[in-house]
Amino acid sequence: MGSGKVTTGSELQDFQGKHVTVAGLGVSGVPAAKVLHARGALVTVVNDGDDARAREQAAQLEALGITVRLGDGATLPEGTELIVTAPGWKPDKPLFLAARAAGVPVWGDVELAWRLRGPDAAPWLAVTGTNGKTTTVQMLASILKAAGLRTAAVGNIGVSLLDAVLGEERYDVLAVELSSYQLHWAPSLRAHSAAVLNLAPDHLDWHGSMEAYAADKGRVYEGNKVACVYNAADKRTEDLVREADVEEGCRAVGFTLGTPGPSQLGVVDGILVDRAFVANRQKNAQELAEVSDVNPPAPHNVANALAAAALARAFGVPARAVRDGLRAFRPDAHRIAHVADIDGVAYVDDSKATNTHAAEASLASYESIVWIAGGLAKGATFDELVAKSAKRLRGAVLIGADRELIRDALARHAPEVPVVDLDRTDTGAMFQAVTEARRLAVAGDTVLLAPACASMDMFTNYNQRGDAFAAAVRELRA
Ligand code: ADP
Repeated sequence: MGSGKVTTGSELQDFQGKHVTVAGLGVSGVPAAKVLHARGALVTVVNDGDDARAREQAAQLEALGITVRLGDGATLPEGTELIVTAPGWKPDKPLFLAARAAGVPVWGDVELAWRLRGPDAAPWLAVTGTNGKTTTVQMLASILKAAGLRTAAVGNIGVSLLDAVLGEERYDVLAVELSSYQLHWAPSLRAHSAAVLNLAPDHLDWHGSMEAYAADKGRVYEGNKVACVYNAADKRTEDLVREADVEEGCRAVGFTLGTPGPSQLGVVDGILVDRAFVANRQKNAQELAEVSDVNPPAPHNVANALAAAALARAFGVPARAVRDGLRAFRPDAHRIAHVADIDGVAYVDDSKATNTHAAEASLASYESIVWIAGGLAKGATFDELVAKSAKRLRGAVLIGADRELIRDALARHAPEVPVVDLDRTDTGAMFQAVTEARRLAVAGDTVLLAPACASMDMFTNYNQRGDAFAAAVRELRA
């Protein structure tokens, strides 16, 4: 292995007697430690924290004969031959610098699952991107099921890949959601086909730069066999396909909300059409579904549906299953969820719009909006979002810690839009926000919770924020 080159540990197959360090207790660390121990590895778990929960987990592992070091996630244990890390651990941690210097490979949870899958394991259809991953993976699983295939939506979505790969259940194919962190630590993953939905600045503190973030997302295309699916409206995703090293014969397939060219999926007169996986794609197109089959039929969600359809078609799924799968799909809560209509005004909960790129898609879905926004900005700026959305705004109601950043952007780019700035972060603030929004709205408008910010300044998570919005709307209606 040359100097400076990352060691992938490709030769590591048999774990018997190998010294493996598992970095981080928790959702991925505990099962990884158990699996490796069961395969004969000499496992040491290292963890930064030393709280009650960590001690409880440590006791459980120690009872099996696994060594656990609490309160020291920085030092590389003597003799380590492989590190298996929790995906969220930052690459510049001293543990990884020491590993690199010693030529020790580092795998994440996805890499471990990939290595441990059996010889007749189901192929993976992988999805990544800044926004829309969960929705797309669920749509894909729904389409694959409609085609009669045994499948599951797994990965970053909350269902462990290790369980999917090692469990009793047999699958024909897996719909896999991958985060940029997971991809960073998955050097040898080779999907059947993969999609990058979009790329906007996010998690840059972790990756170090936009280039590094994009490069980690782009890993999803490495070694693809049948199709690399990209977003024709987002050039960066297409560039990643061009840079990827894929298997002979693997194709670049674009998706677009416009009329598709050859080797693309797109939309013609309200119909989702495929000009990639058809005979004679110069001349032919295959109807897949109607835009109204997509739930909800907002533009960004139609893009998600096209990406899911492209991956399913790459796997050989018939057109009818795409339609049936899209019709059967129900989005998770707090993603453009219609809560109620009151006096001709629609109330929509998109609490999951936790960054500006997501909020931009959300705001583009309605014509005339009273926008409820604000929370923790995570270093984001709001000028572009506000400038692009200004013409759709009837008014804005701002909540949360970083609301003045949005207020200033509104003053700069939409000075005529009335703004209510709520200077409170208590639990009653959402009810007041909804009441103010109702006052600003007129019949035909949409009151849209699309905060463009994280929720943790006022709520436990985005679910609780969306629930508070829905509860406030119901109280208004009562
Ligand atoms: P992820 O798993 O990537 O976080 P989700 O499917 O949970 O994505 O959607 C999160 C939010 O991102 C949605 O509530 C919506 O506001 C926005 N969103 C969904 N799909 C897209 C898309 N294709 N482009 C931009 N924003 C999107």
